[in-house]
Amino acid sequence: MKKLSNPQVTIETIKKYDFAFQKKFGQNFLIDEHVLNKIILAAGVTKEDVVLEIGPGFGTMTQYLAEAAKEVIAVEIDKTLIPILQDTLKDYDNVTLINEDILKVDIADLVNKKNSGKPIKVVANLPYYITTPIIMGLFESHVPLENITVMVQKEVASRMQAGPGTKDYGALSLAVQFYAKPYIVANVPPNCFIPRPNVGSAVIRLTKWDRPPVKVDHETFMFSLVRASFNQRRKTLQNSLINGGIPVTKERIVSALKKMDLSPTIRGEALTLEQFAQLSDYLDT
Ligand code: SAM
Repeated sequence: MKKLSNPQVTIETIKKYDFAFQKKFGQNFLIDEHVLNKIILAAGVTKEDVVLEIGPGFGTMTQYLAEAAKEVIAVEIDKTLIPILQDTLKDYDNVTLINEDILKVDIADLVNKKNSGKPIKVVANLPYYITTPIIMGLFESHVPLENITVMVQKEVASRMQAGPGTKDYGALSLAVQFYAKPYIVANVPPNCFIPRPNVGSAVIRLTKWDRPPVKVDHETFMFSLVRASFNQRRKTLQNSLINGGIPVTKERIVSALKKMDLSPTIRGEALTLEQFAQLSDYLDT
């Protein structure tokens, strides 16, 4: 089977199967060899690795992964793609196809079965409509994994990597950076896909920390502070927390900010992850 990264091969496959792209599944298939090589390289895939691919589509990236990895598990929601994948991936005996919604798959159980619970790598050109639930689901369910290397909407990649005081900094930045170190590998223009998406894309690698970079007594409480702070990002931190339904008095917030040497008028967007952790420990008693 020829490589689907060759646009002509992808076009022939569309015709052969009379394939109709489904917008609701975020189907934009990659047709750029350089981008695919960059993704595999950034993920550091080797013959020791079991890789989970989310949304293989026609199997364009799966072909590259199958050549680089020990084993690939590819989870695709669209059942019309399964016979196509069986055809485009017939030369590889190290790919397991699963026709399922990734949000319904017990990934930790899959990793246990396929890699005896040892960390896997996740590589994907993600369906953009569910980028955040997929990534946060992988982190929060404590699936053993080394890194996640994914194509996402460019703005989302910027938000994941943003630091305090920037316009892109928000709840997503803090949530991702609590679990992993983000690195934007490449920006990818719309002409690298069929059909072309109407947004720019970027490849980002999230390397999971062995241990979170900050210590906090109750993660859930810290993230409720984070969400409340950014829900009303133009308000001061203390007003956002009070209006955001955090069950603490204004006096306690003022005193916590004082202990942390922070101004009473500071906004949430100025706080680092470490400061949110500290604030959480002060308020959560
Ligand atoms: N990997 C292919 C490529 O790079 O050419 C296709 C990427 S396309 C952006 C996203 C893929 O994810 C599509 O094949 C789509 O059908 C699939 N998908 C969408 N929602 C999904 C879900 N909930 N679970 C699994 N796959 C999904």
